[in-house]
Amino acid sequence: MIVDIVKKNEPITSEQIAEKLNLTRSALRPDLAVLTMLGVLEARPRVGYFFTGKAVDTLISEKITDIKVDEIKATPVIVKESTSVYDAIVTLFLTDVGTLFVSDDEGNLQGIVSRKDLLKTAIGNTNTHQIPIGVVMTRMPNIVTVTPEESAYEAARKIVDHQVDALPVVKAVIENGQEKYKIVGKVTKTTITKLFVELGKN
Ligand code: ADP
Repeated sequence: MIVDIVKKNEPITSEQIAEKLNLTRSALRPDLAVLTMLGVLEARPRVGYFFTGKAVDTLISEKITDIKVDEIKATPVIVKESTSVYDAIVTLFLTDVGTLFVSDDEGNLQGIVSRKDLLKTAIGNTNTHQIPIGVVMTRMPNIVTVTPEESAYEAARKIVDHQVDALPVVKAVIENGQEKYKIVGKVTKTTITKLFVELGKN
């Protein structure tokens, strides 16, 4: 209501806004402080309040595109392609994660294994000790990744668009004339949920 009043009557003093809302000026003070801090309103001394043209929605979207993957990324659990399906399942329990990343000895991304990839294998095979995850994982180049410079919004959008739980955070490097992707972190549905809670707190 305050924003609407300012939009229609700018410049308008806090006394005039308070009057229109049947409130005292002091009751209005915290709201006006928040709106000016957010950049929705601008207060000019001895003139009054102006609407800056920024909607709250725009401010929220600016905020989540300002936050970079580098600031929110979590530690990935990385295993080798030769790890057995049995050991991969044990690793899921021990590390309390849902997705494992698979790398070569240099830490370059090779694959990704989800809970259901492992369940699917375990349900049809009795000897999960004998099956390497290399045969059940989703392999490069079919992996959706993010870079540390991309925004939190971009990462969340990729998770939703590709219907996956986790994205490896990678840095591209050239090794022996070949482009490789070093795993430097992960962004998962949990990472995004934690960020959402953090933003809500503030
Ligand atoms: P779950 O299968 O446990 O529901 P996901 O939805 O993340 O977990 O995985 C669905 C499928 O997509 C699995 O086969 C998995 O290997 C694959 N997958 C998981 N993450 C990615 C990713 N970032 N890029 C490409 N494929 C992925």
